[in-house]
Amino acid sequence: MLSLRHADIKYVKGIGPHRADLLAAEVGIRSVYDLLRHFPTAYIDRSRIYSIRSLCMADGEQPSVQVKGRFVSFNVLGEGAKQRLVGLFTDGTATMECVWFKGVRNIRKKLVTANEYIVFGKPGRFNSVLQMSHPEVDIPGTVGASQGLRGIYPLTERLRTDNFGSKAFFASISSYLAGHATPFVDPLPSSVIKDNGLIGFDEAIRTIHVPQDVKMLQAAKLRLKFEELFFIQVDMLRRSRKRRSSTEGYYMPRVGRWFNDFYSQCLPFELTGAQKRVIKEIRNDIISFKQMNRLVQGDVGSGKTLVALISMLFAIDNGYQACLMAPTEILATQHFETISEMCSKIGLNVKLLTGSTRTAARREISEGLIDGSIHILVGTHAVIEDTVQFHRLGFVVIDEQHRFGVAQRAKLWAKSDIPPHVLVMTATPIPRTLAMTVYGDLDISVIDELPPGRKPVATALRYDEQRERVDKAVLGELEAGRQVYIVYPLIEENEKLDLKSATEGYERAKRIFGKYGVAFVHGRMKPAEKEAQMSLFSSGKAAVLVSTTVIEVGVNVPNATTMIIENAERFGLSQLHQLRGRVGRGADKSYCILMTKYKIAAETRKRLELMTSTTDGFVIAEADMQMRGPGDIEGTMQSGLPFDLHIANLAQDGRIIQMAREAAEKLLDADPDLSKTENLYFSRAMQEIAHRNTDWSRIS
Ligand code: ADP
Ligand code: MG
Repeated sequence: MLSLRHADIKYVKGIGPHRADLLAAEVGIRSVYDLLRHFPTAYIDRSRIYSIRSLCMADGEQPSVQVKGRFVSFNVLGEGAKQRLVGLFTDGTATMECVWFKGVRNIRKKLVTANEYIVFGKPGRFNSVLQMSHPEVDIPGTVGASQGLRGIYPLTERLRTDNFGSKAFFASISSYLAGHATPFVDPLPSSVIKDNGLIGFDEAIRTIHVPQDVKMLQAAKLRLKFEELFFIQVDMLRRSRKRRSSTEGYYMPRVGRWFNDFYSQCLPFELTGAQKRVIKEIRNDIISFKQMNRLVQGDVGSGKTLVALISMLFAIDNGYQACLMAPTEILATQHFETISEMCSKIGLNVKLLTGSTRTAARREISEGLIDGSIHILVGTHAVIEDTVQFHRLGFVVIDEQHRFGVAQRAKLWAKSDIPPHVLVMTATPIPRTLAMTVYGDLDISVIDELPPGRKPVATALRYDEQRERVDKAVLGELEAGRQVYIVYPLIEENEKLDLKSATEGYERAKRIFGKYGVAFVHGRMKPAEKEAQMSLFSSGKAAVLVSTTVIEVGVNVPNATTMIIENAERFGLSQLHQLRGRVGRGADKSYCILMTKYKIAAETRKRLELMTSTTDGFVIAEADMQMRGPGDIEGTMQSGLPFDLHIANLAQDGRIIQMAREAAEKLLDADPDLSKTENLYFSRAMQEIAHRNTDWSRIS
C-alpha cells in the first residue's frame, strides 16, 4: 500500500499529464494512493431503469435516475454563449428532452439516432416539458452504464467543466483496480482486523469504488472508517501515555493559608458536588509529579471560574504564580473583576494585563511578576508575549480554549523549563466520542451540575409580526427592575449590513425603552468605548444592552432576565445556547425570545424549536452536529488532527470512534512501542501517513 504513495497518477488509464495536474491542483490527488482514497460521498442505484412515462407522472423533486431508449432528433438552438443542444429522447412510453449548454459540438458529434442509449440524470421540468440537463449518456453494456451501485465522487467546478466528473473517476479508478491483480497489503495488524470483525483492506478498497451490493458496501465503509480513526486513536494514546510517563510536572502538595482563608472567608456559597469532584481531580494531578493537561467542560453558568480560582490558590499555596488567559478583553476584565472581588478580603495580589494596558502599568506588572509579588495574572494573549516573564509560573488556566490557536498555547512552555500545569476550560459541549478524538491527549473533567436554584430559561420562538407583544413583555421586566439583552448577529462577510441592522435596533430600543437606559456594544468599537458601554449595563445604569455577538462569551449580570435574539435563524444552535446562558443567572425566572421572520425553512424551524424544548447543552451540541456536521468543530479541531479524515465523520461515527479507541488500547497494552514483528508494517504506515507538524503533542 505504501508504494502507492509514490505511484504517479498520470500513468493511470484515462488520466494523463494534463488531468494529473488538474487533479493535484483541484483536489490534492497526486499519487495512486490519494486517488484510491478519493472516496465516493454517495451512491446511486443504477440497477433500475425507469420509464419516461413514470417520470412524467411523478411530482416534486426527483433523484437522478436512468432511462433507456433512443434519440429521435437533435436541434442546436441559440447563438454564441446561449447556444444549446436539445435531443428529443424516447423509450416508447413517452418523450423527454436532454439539454446541453456546454460542449455542444462535441456531444452532437458523438450521439446518433440509430443507437440505443442509457441516459442518466436528474429529471426536471422546463415549461412543463420533462427535461434532463447535462445527463450522462452511455451505450448499454459499457463501463459507464454498468449496473448496480455507482459512486458519486466529490468534485470541484473546474473538474466538472473539464469533463472530469464522477464517471471519469469511476472509470479510471475501476480500471486501475482491475489491472492491479495482486492484493493490496493491509496496513492494519491482523489481530486488530480479526478482533473487530473487519474485512481486509484489499476487499474494502475495491468495494468502496465498485460495490457489488449494499451489504458489502457497509462492511467496506466500516473497515475504512475504522482504519482512519484507529490511526488517530493509536497516535493520541501513544502520546498521552508517553506524556504521562515522562513529562515532569510541579509537585504541589500543600493546602495552605490562601486556600483555607478563601474557603472560610470568601466563599459565599457551597460548592456543587460536580465542582468538588473536579477540584479533587485537579488536586490529584498536581500531586502526581506529572504535568497536568486537563480540560474542564461545563455548561455556561456551571461555575468553572470558581474551580479555576481554587486550583490557582493551590498553586499559590505551594509558592507558585498562576495565570488566567481569556480570549477577549471584555472577558479578561470580567474574570479580573470577579477574582479580585472574591478575594478582596484575603489580600491576594491579582493583576490584569491586556493589549490596552498602559506602559507604566505594564512596567509595574512586569516587576511584580519577576519579584514574585503578583500571585495571579489575568489577561488576554498579551500574557504570552515574550516580554512577559514570571518568577515561578506553575499553573495556567485557559478559558474558552477554542479561541486560542494551537501555536499560542504551545508558547506557554517557553516560559519555564518544567511546563506549568494547564487547565483548559470550555463551555462548548463536545460529545464524548468527539472529545476523545480531538482532545485525545487531554484528561477530561465534566462539571455536569448547575448551582442550585437556577431555573431553566423559558425559551420561545416569535415572529416579527408579534414584535409588539414582545416589546410589552420586555417593558414588564424593565418595570420590575430587571435587565434585558437584545442581540444581533454579526458575521464578517456581511459585516456592514449587520452593523446597520444592529444600529437600527439600538435606535429603536432607545425610542421604546429609552427611559430605562440603553447601552450599545458592537465588535467594531474601540476597547475603551466597549468597556464604558458594558459597565453602563453591568452597573445597572442602563437596563437594556443592545449588542452584536460580542457578549457571546462570559458576561455575567445576574439581574438580566431576558434575552431577545434577533434573526435567530442565522445563529448555530450551540451559539444560541451560549448566548442564552447569559440569562437565568440570578434567582428570577428568565426568558429567551428567538425572533425570526415568519417564512423560514422547515429545517430552520426544527432547529429553533429544539432550542425551545431543551436547555441541555449536550443534547443541543449533538443535535447541532447531526444537523450541520461538526461545523466549527470540524474546521478548527479537525485541522489539528494528526491524520486526514477522508471517510470517517467525527460527528456521526461515534460508535466507530469508541471501537477504535478500545482496539488502540488493546494493541498498545500488548505492544507499547509497536515493535513486535506483526505490528511493524502498521507502525511504518502510521509514520508515513502522519502529518509532519508534530507540535501537536505539546498543545492543550
Ligand atoms: P461558567 O464560567 O462556568 O459559565 P461562572 O464561573 O461564571 O460560570 O459562574 C456563574 C455564576 O455562578 C457566577 O455568578 C458564580 O459566582 C456562580 N456560582 C459558581 N459556583 C456556584 C455555586 N456552587 N453555588 C452558587 N453559585 C455559584
Ligand atoms: Mg465562564
